[in-house]
Amino acid sequence: MSQTFDVIIIGAGIMGCSTAFQLAQRGLKVAVLEKGDIGAGSTGKSSAIIRQHYSNELTARMALYSLRVFRDFAEQVGGECGFTQTGFVALVAAKDKEGLEANVNLQRRVGIQTELLSPEALREIMPGVEAADLVAAAYEPESGYADPYLAVNAYAEAARRLGAKIFQDTEVIGIRFAGGKVTGVDTPKETFAAPIVLNCAGPWGARVARMVGAEAPINACRVQVAFFRRPAGYEAPHPVVADFIHATYFRPETGSLTLVGLIDPAEADAVVNPDGFSEQVDSEFVLDSGERLVRRYPVMEHSHSTGGYASLYAITPDWHPIIDELLPDSGFFICAGFSGHGFKLGPAVGLMAADMLTGQSTPEFDPYLFRFSRYAENDPVRGRYEYSIAG
Ligand SMILES: Cc1cc2nc3c(=O)[nH]c(=O)nc-3n(C[C@H](O)[C@H](O)[C@H](O)COP(=O)(O)OP(=O)(O)OC[C@H]3O[C@@H](n4cnc5c(N)ncnc54)[C@H](O)[C@@H]3O)c2cc1C
Repeated sequence: MSQTFDVIIIGAGIMGCSTAFQLAQRGLKVAVLEKGDIGAGSTGKSSAIIRQHYSNELTARMALYSLRVFRDFAEQVGGECGFTQTGFVALVAAKDKEGLEANVNLQRRVGIQTELLSPEALREIMPGVEAADLVAAAYEPESGYADPYLAVNAYAEAARRLGAKIFQDTEVIGIRFAGGKVTGVDTPKETFAAPIVLNCAGPWGARVARMVGAEAPINACRVQVAFFRRPAGYEAPHPVVADFIHATYFRPETGSLTLVGLIDPAEADAVVNPDGFSEQVDSEFVLDSGERLVRRYPVMEHSHSTGGYASLYAITPDWHPIIDELLPDSGFFICAGFSGHGFKLGPAVGLMAADMLTGQSTPEFDPYLFRFSRYAENDPVRGRYEYSIAG
């Protein structure tokens, strides 16, 4: 016998849970089906940096909206998301200075608190930083990072309080259709009925899309992070840094650790089977990321490596998500492919996906930019830097 819902969401990552919360708030009967545990995909392993440095208005607005939700999480959602305000700096090479300035102007226009910093001002905010190769930096005092596991579980709990049902250990293995319209999904244990199904399966998004015969250009790509313990005298948290010159990002982690990852377009080449890849960090990665970190933050020369891990990005050709009805007029929607920068956008995405599913619209968050057809139309989302991840 099948249980019946208004909407079935496949995947309990930040996107699935934030959307479930928004839909439940609107009074819809929602089920989230998750093949593992809540946050088992990219979300639980996210570096969860919350910055607003984007080069198109929509993503900048989404980042600003979402930052405010993370900052006021207890009132807006309920529970804890572990938001820690450290400030954020973006460092670019001289050739990208114009782009940086244009981005900062755009961000200020949409209401983001951000400014250009001279190398001297940067050194004041972050003692010990190497700034000799910099012409300018962008600074966001309000940004920081969150605890992704806490955040996604708090969203799930908030959705549950509003009546949503979350089924863990429940893998969707087929999608049911009748007369061109979706009618529900199959799992190994039972079927679930609904006239609307949303694919929030992250790195598995293409696989789930294939269940309805659609080819979504989303690759599961293996990415790594490493941790280093800061030396005596530098235990206090430093700002979050996106260093486009050394193609790294780093942020403080509890226990005087610094977490380092790459901002490297080549990460799109590491396509793997999302159900069978090494989750251990490679020793070469620890060495390489550590060296890059030391070049920007020389005090880390005296740090100790404390390991790391590998996880998955869901990367699309333009490093931006697909938020759309995948098969027109079918009730089968997709919200996936966040390409390594989706966590920070989760609250806004939940709002946008809920609007899309209920036929509502919030004009400042029109998801048209993320339509599926943009790839066929050769009209991808374009960023201002060659590093597409900065959007
Ligand atoms: C190492 C790392 C660092 C990152 N750092 C940042 C950062 O600093 N800032 C930032 O904004 N973003 C960051 N990201 C990206 C961000 O984490 C992701 O964009 C975001 O978490 C994607 O969320 P999601 O809900 O789309 O996907 P996921 O969290 O992957 O959720 C998809 C879920 O679907 C489930 N699923 C899949 N197939 C099925 C099925 N058939 N049936 C049922 N369930 C299914 C999976 O088990 C999974 O739980 C990072 C990601 C990684 C891996």
